[in-house]
Amino acid sequence: MLEIYNSLTRLKETFKPLHEGHVGMYVCGPTVYGDAHLGHARPAITFDLLYRYLQYLGYKVRYVRNITDVGHLEHDADEGEDKIAKKARLEQLEPMEVVQFYTNRYHRDMAALNVLPPSIEPHASGHIIEQIAFVQKILDRGYAYVSNGSVYMDVEKYAKDYPYGKLSGRNLNDIVTETRELDGQDEKKHSYDFALWKKAAPEHIMHWPSPWSEGFPGWHMECSTMGTKYLGEKFDIHGGGLDLIFPHHEAEIAQSCAALGHESVHYWMHNNMITIAGKKMGKSYNNFITLEQFFSGNHPLLSKPFGPMVIRFFILQAHYRSTVDFSSEALEAAEKGLQRMQEAYARLLKLQAAKETTVEVAGLRQRCQEAMDDDLNSPFVIAALFDSVKAINTVHDGKGTINEADLKELKDVWQTFAIDILGLRLEEQGAGDEKLKAFGGAIDLLLSIRLQAKQNKDWATSDKIRNELTALGFQIKDTKDGFEWSI
Ligand code: ZN
Repeated sequence: MLEIYNSLTRLKETFKPLHEGHVGMYVCGPTVYGDAHLGHARPAITFDLLYRYLQYLGYKVRYVRNITDVGHLEHDADEGEDKIAKKARLEQLEPMEVVQFYTNRYHRDMAALNVLPPSIEPHASGHIIEQIAFVQKILDRGYAYVSNGSVYMDVEKYAKDYPYGKLSGRNLNDIVTETRELDGQDEKKHSYDFALWKKAAPEHIMHWPSPWSEGFPGWHMECSTMGTKYLGEKFDIHGGGLDLIFPHHEAEIAQSCAALGHESVHYWMHNNMITIAGKKMGKSYNNFITLEQFFSGNHPLLSKPFGPMVIRFFILQAHYRSTVDFSSEALEAAEKGLQRMQEAYARLLKLQAAKETTVEVAGLRQRCQEAMDDDLNSPFVIAALFDSVKAINTVHDGKGTINEADLKELKDVWQTFAIDILGLRLEEQGAGDEKLKAFGGAIDLLLSIRLQAKQNKDWATSDKIRNELTALGFQIKDTKDGFEWSI
């Protein structure tokens, strides 16, 4: 039975879906105002692993991962400029151009990481009517108030009837001391009240009509609304990064209880953070490296480019509830680990069956499955697969044998756990290297033709090759013995 660590109870629970055979899961997706970085890759890969494993267990999964394209303000959820609107202002673009541009790039990066697309990817801006209706329900049940055209959650009143702070283990006093005094506070009864609807300032470019003002929904509102719209008033799993527990997920619980009279989420799951030298990685911390920079190696903290599968392997090597500290050395180690796996898999595919099995391969499937059942223990799955590498190498080196049934099972376990569930593309690296080799060979060929042309004083041909390669981004250096090139 799959165990899921539920952040709400802080206990390991045995996973039981609300409706037999079906699982509804909702994961907070990106705010699309910049390129995805390593901190985005972790939740995407963690919940991709869960999505893949639930399907392997035979569940029909409806996976909703939203796109935040309105209402995420710069300071917490309530104050400052909208992140999308700010980018649009700086770039002189329509806000939806910013949204489309970064959504496309997010999809490109996720596809590179072999993250499966969710079943539904709703946009906050496409669900304004539903969010207004949700806010109205909270107002009707008396847990919110209108102030100067904005609507705020009445946290004090709510906390009398429901346990506010249960997910993060905070009480109202903790929250009071944590909440910063900001502009517009005078609209709120208390500093800890949060916006359900905000009246738009005259310069605010993203706004919609509502019963209270021309404005926009509070950030937390979209997830309560879209989660229950697509998965029902009660659904199985809600995921996201640990940094979303407070205030975002705490606010979601409050909104659902206030509007519906009960909680919506059965299991809360949170992935831990990726740090750089112990500090959280993120746009607001100015220490983030985008996925594109990893793939190109174009960042001062990177020793070289790292392929998307190295990033995926690096993340899966740690349990999702542990922190992962990033360094170029740690990525290089992950790259070596992945290469070992790819080599072993290539050997496995070529092994010949014999009459008898003399190597240790029994129990591998069970070990992998038990590790996955134990709260998605991906590092244990990887360790189990590495143990079988010894057997693969022994047979490969002719020092042991494997019979047909065991070989078939071994190939099937690798296909199932390494490729289908961990989502590692094991055959690709070699193919990539082949392509790279062919590409390098073609450039060498062109430059040797140029060298020949120069020797023949055919300057037209020599210049043409040089200029056109330079225009394509190549740097060509003539040396004593010939040439050197780089991109
Ligand atoms: Zn959310």
